[in-house]
Amino acid sequence: MTQLQKAILLLKEIKQHNHQAYIVGGFVRDYLRGIQNPDIDICTSMDLDLLKQYFKVKEEHYGSTILMFYGSYFEVTTFRREIGSKQNRYPEKIIYTDNLEEDLKRRDFRMNAICMNEKREIIDPLGGKDDVKRKQIVCIGDPIKRLEEDALRILRAIRFATTLNFSLDSSLSDAIIQKRDLLKAISYQRKKEELNRIFSSSRAIQGRTLLIEHQLLDVLEIPNLKNAVFYSHPLLIWMQLGVDEIYPFTKEEKKQMKYFRKCMEEPWNLYRIYESDLQTAILIGMMKGKGKEEIKILKNNLPIQNRQDIKITSDELQQFIPVEKISYNYKKIEQAILTGKLKNKKTDIIEWLKKQK
Ligand code: ATP
Ligand code: MG
Repeated sequence: MTQLQKAILLLKEIKQHNHQAYIVGGFVRDYLRGIQNPDIDICTSMDLDLLKQYFKVKEEHYGSTILMFYGSYFEVTTFRREIGSKQNRYPEKIIYTDNLEEDLKRRDFRMNAICMNEKREIIDPLGGKDDVKRKQIVCIGDPIKRLEEDALRILRAIRFATTLNFSLDSSLSDAIIQKRDLLKAISYQRKKEELNRIFSSSRAIQGRTLLIEHQLLDVLEIPNLKNAVFYSHPLLIWMQLGVDEIYPFTKEEKKQMKYFRKCMEEPWNLYRIYESDLQTAILIGMMKGKGKEEIKILKNNLPIQNRQDIKITSDELQQFIPVEKISYNYKKIEQAILTGKLKNKKTDIIEWLKKQK
């Protein structure tokens, strides 16, 4: 069964309990664009208590739940109105309703407020379908107010414009510039998630242009993005921004960024491919203009794969160098072999070591 077939069964089941339910959001928007979005969001008049009674609820937050249905997850949200705003991000108050249109009006953009019912019919009271056709992102209601309520919508708008190749309605575009400072109130985690989606997009460069046009680089604390080289992996972009300690990165990511910066500065060499795992090696290759397949082949055909492949044992090495220098010399030998300066042959290695002294 496809995700859509499962979602339709879910809508039908909710209806059998005398409640309304629709698919909404990104799935319907992308369906109208002829693109399959793997994520299906559902809105319903059924409240959380009933949802929990009838379905397997995995997670709940702010009246929205993740349901497990026929082995798939669906985000199900009870119809609501949102009143006021806290910290330019969260509503002060949520009022549940059984009116679909009220629920649609609290959403961000008209293209994200299109519904599909269990007969696969489109329900579109706010006119989002037209926006999809015209490839336009239009706010629901007054853009200034909607961005004040939740400033993350600024980045959502830029992210959608980038990934969907849509343009921003001029009143939304103006409101973004006017309200850009509100992004300071948004958590770095959420900002990073949106920026990651922009950086991962095949249209990331257009995303940068939009960020610059809307004067967002300074408020996002990423002025270096202006001159960054765009590689097709977000970490390779982040590492050029110098924000390792501002945005949240794992220890591993920080370590990788440091390493990538080092590799970026030095000329291409096989030693980096040798010492890195395949995933990292592919990213280094990306920086040096080499394709994934090329890196795989190079890595598989290195003259040595590890120290055990070097044709001299550490016992043999000890005859020429003191114990405490073994490790240092192994590294030198590895580098010499990988850069083609030395053949992996015992006699050659010994000769070469003698010359090093
Ligand atoms: P995608 O899943 O492709 O990223 P989406 O439009 O489905 O896009 P989600 O973050 O999954 O985005 O949110 C689902 C829906 O919830 C949106 O389509 C929109 O209607 C609503 N929504 C999400 N975030 C906000 C927000 N910050 N303000 C208002 N409505 C929102
Ligand atoms: Mg979604």
